[in-house]
Amino acid sequence: MNRIIYLDNAATTRVREEVLEEMLPFFRETYSNPSAIYSFAGEARKAVGIARERAAALIGAKAGEIYFTAGGTESDNWAVRAVAESRADKGRHIITSRIEHHAVLHTCEYLERQGYEVTYLDVDEEGKISPEAVERAIRPETILISVMAANNEIGVLEPVARIGEIAHERGVLFHTDAVQAYGHIPLDVETMHIDLLSASGHKLNGPKGVGMLYCRENLRLGAFIHGGAQEKGRRAGTLNVPGIVGFGKAAALAGERMQERYEREEKLRDYLIDRVLAEIPYTRLNGSAKERLSNNAHFCFRFIEGESLLILLDQKGVCASSGSACTSGALDPSHVLLAIGLPHEMAHGSLRLTLSEETTKEELDYVVESLKEIVGRLRSMSPLYEDFLKQK
Ligand code: PLP
Repeated sequence: MNRIIYLDNAATTRVREEVLEEMLPFFRETYSNPSAIYSFAGEARKAVGIARERAAALIGAKAGEIYFTAGGTESDNWAVRAVAESRADKGRHIITSRIEHHAVLHTCEYLERQGYEVTYLDVDEEGKISPEAVERAIRPETILISVMAANNEIGVLEPVARIGEIAHERGVLFHTDAVQAYGHIPLDVETMHIDLLSASGHKLNGPKGVGMLYCRENLRLGAFIHGGAQEKGRRAGTLNVPGIVGFGKAAALAGERMQERYEREEKLRDYLIDRVLAEIPYTRLNGSAKERLSNNAHFCFRFIEGESLLILLDQKGVCASSGSACTSGALDPSHVLLAIGLPHEMAHGSLRLTLSEETTKEELDYVVESLKEIVGRLRSMSPLYEDFLKQK
């Protein structure tokens, strides 16, 4: 097989043809700045309005509650910082979890340096955050709870509806980082009591560098980027019209295909998980077996270095990830894997395979066969594995 097998869809996805087609005129023909007065700008303005409606429809929000940003990282930064700053007179305590994306965690750490207090909730061995623990952590001075809808490494789905309900019963704002969940699972800001929600275009077959922050209508959040009057003066900067149009189209398509896609991916994901666990010994699945994203399979292989595994998979044309910062050269094992209780040695041998609508069973068969061979080869060179066999 000499084509690429792309199983890193949690990192980013391919832009769909229909999405690209809808974006192209906004580079070449309808390229005006949507803020301009002349009628030529009207087309771009109209397209942004349609995108806003589409983006909102996917989560039961109103178009006026959507603010376009440059991606999930910006949306997370904005949500957490703006609540912290605008509610500082009410309190300076924030609740989040240990397994959030760094866009939330590092923003919380920044706020700690500004004098805020942050509670980082533990998760169970499946990566689940307990709503009861959220409730126990609430104090009179708590102003925000930020819990992700789905984890980007191990794919676990968090009980956001229940957490949102608790937040609202106790008068606390609720933000969810839905970057991995938006367009993949049903989300409804009303029934789930969500005040702020982050999403990103490139995780749902839309373009990179464009995202959104949903912000409940009655919230008076401060501006994040100062400058012009764009996005009601809260997020200044000339709008990325092609990106926003692409985001809207991707959201619309994701909504139409969600059920079908979920069912297809789930079947293939379970096929992959079952084969890997059955055919490769000393392997574990990370995250809940059932309450996980339909496209996520995340494993740890004992006695193996994840880096080596990725390099050897790459030589076979397979794009995969360890799902953690390890891939960017950091030596620390993933904070998510440590949070679910894995020892360092185990956490280093991780592999995240994330499927797309285009993934086929034939590709997965190839990947499983490759993995069997590579894991066997790496273990045969591992002194740890040798010791383990001697002790058995
Ligand atoms: N939050 C989660 C859960 C993510 O998975 C990601 C991206 O991997 C982000 C935030 C950041 O999104 P972006 O790449 O659009 O900045």
